[in-house]
Amino acid sequence: MGEAACDVLQAELALDLLDGKLATELPPHMRAFARAYATGSPPPSAPAILSQPQALQTARNACMHDLLVARGLALLRLAAPIAIEDDPFVRALRGGPPSWSGITALAAARDRAAQSRFGARAIPLLHRLHGVTQARGGAVEVETSMLPGWKARQHELDGAAIEELWRWLSGHFGVRGTVQVERSAAKSRTFVVVPGSAVIVVVPISIASPAARFAVLHELGHAVAAVALPDGIPRALDEGVAALVARLAESPSVLPAVWHCELAAAARVRRAAIAMLLAEIERGLPELPAVPPSASPPHALWDDPGAQGCYVEAEVIADRLQSQLAGDGRALPTLLAGELERIDRRAQL
Ligand SMILES: [Zn+2]
Repeated sequence: MGEAACDVLQAELALDLLDGKLATELPPHMRAFARAYATGSPPPSAPAILSQPQALQTARNACMHDLLVARGLALLRLAAPIAIEDDPFVRALRGGPPSWSGITALAAARDRAAQSRFGARAIPLLHRLHGVTQARGGAVEVETSMLPGWKARQHELDGAAIEELWRWLSGHFGVRGTVQVERSAAKSRTFVVVPGSAVIVVVPISIASPAARFAVLHELGHAVAAVALPDGIPRALDEGVAALVARLAESPSVLPAVWHCELAAAARVRRAAIAMLLAEIERGLPELPAVPPSASPPHALWDDPGAQGCYVEAEVIADRLQSQLAGDGRALPTLLAGELERIDRRAQL
């Protein structure tokens, strides 16, 4: 027993040390990353500490103790994808132009990298860590043409409208945190600077179309998750909160009127069908689908392994949260803590 207690103590000390370094290194890194992303400059490399083998070992040791498993898993969610993508073969293949023949080699390299470090294939590993549980099968019919009007210009919204929306969301869900908004031509994205308190959201330069309003709502949904939960949020849960918040624009909407959107529900159905199709393809890799759906694989499969399964699961999580909240947003932080526990229980390696 004495030895076990000593092990726990050592694992906790190593974890504290690493968490302390991350608390110092991650905020400036995330600020620089967000800035580079918004301006189209090359991103800074991830803090070296996360790509060192000790980080993985520290996370694994923590996962062996009930008291530390939640913190160990949170760290693994950050470190495992970096370990796979940093593999020299994976990096070399990913650097080439996306092609269907290339993605079979890339998926196989990701599997080899994950097998050698974690004893599991890449996509099942990432899905387990990030809370994807839904087994999906069968072909999905997708109407890939754009929803008419989705990108049409309507009323332009300014920074004050985004601030008002964040105030509304903070009040509705009972969360507090600082959100810095960056306008950019880049795809919308959220950067968590200080988990639990400070977030940067990159959103479109012009917010005049239903698509742009959706992007703002979705990213502010990530901001809600970031200030309601500790670092290392399972991605399916993170996307689930973003999906939940984006659904608030659907009729009948309780949001400030400028954010209402009659197309939002139809757009959600279309997005979910595409995610299901891509998730199905990704699960089958390195085997290719009999008929690839496009001339080359989407960047989402090439650069962001495991994401599509998270998007599919996110809608399931959003369904559940929506029905449990029953209009009372302030219950969200408690429900999210429960969701996190459920995912952690299933994720233990
Ligand atoms: Zn998202």
